[in-house]
Amino acid sequence: MKKGTLFVISSPSGGGKSTIISRLLDNDKNLKYSVSATTRKPRKGEKNGVDYYFLTEDEFKEKIEKQKFLEWAEVHNNYYGTLRSQIENTLNKGHNVILDIDVQGGSSVKKIMPEAVLIFLMPPSIKELEKRLRNRGTDSEEDIKKRLENARHEIDQSSKYDFKVVNNEISETVNMVEKIIKQFNEV
Ligand code: 5GP
Repeated sequence: MKKGTLFVISSPSGGGKSTIISRLLDNDKNLKYSVSATTRKPRKGEKNGVDYYFLTEDEFKEKIEKQKFLEWAEVHNNYYGTLRSQIENTLNKGHNVILDIDVQGGSSVKKIMPEAVLIFLMPPSIKELEKRLRNRGTDSEEDIKKRLENARHEIDQSSKYDFKVVNNEISETVNMVEKIIKQFNEV
């Protein structure tokens, strides 16, 4: 059986990335989401094991020691990591896997698995991103500042990505990402 392809999707937070990813998953049953682990506190409505595995810092560090992560990074003062267990079995079954991780994570994955496809969703502008973050209403002023600062850095780092999609409008972005994924299904 043909092994699946690993797709990494990164974008500054607040760009509607989770909506885009859930639409991609709804439209393509062969695409599986890799649930990351994090030490961040759950946001309203987030479920353990669905959105993230929410861990304490000690639990996270134990997993680092036991080499349970394909990659991990500190983002906005919290730890986030991709669990190996979420990926290998799924790819071997022929499914494609999608990772929602930051640019540090994307670069680490590309080093370990050069065949991974890195897609960056570019916000139309920093101003628009700020507006989206504020409209989301889930982050404190301090968090918003941190996320905007990080967004500038992520945009700089996105030159390493295989594809860049300007995220103007959600359905349009979903279509463009689907086209990219389809291209790799046909190889
Ligand atoms: P949020 O707190 O908004 O859910 O995520 C913050 C950032 O952490 C996002 O850019 C998201 O892509 C990234 N992230 C989520 N999971 C992982 C992971 O497993 N590894 C890395 N490196 N980044 C992650």
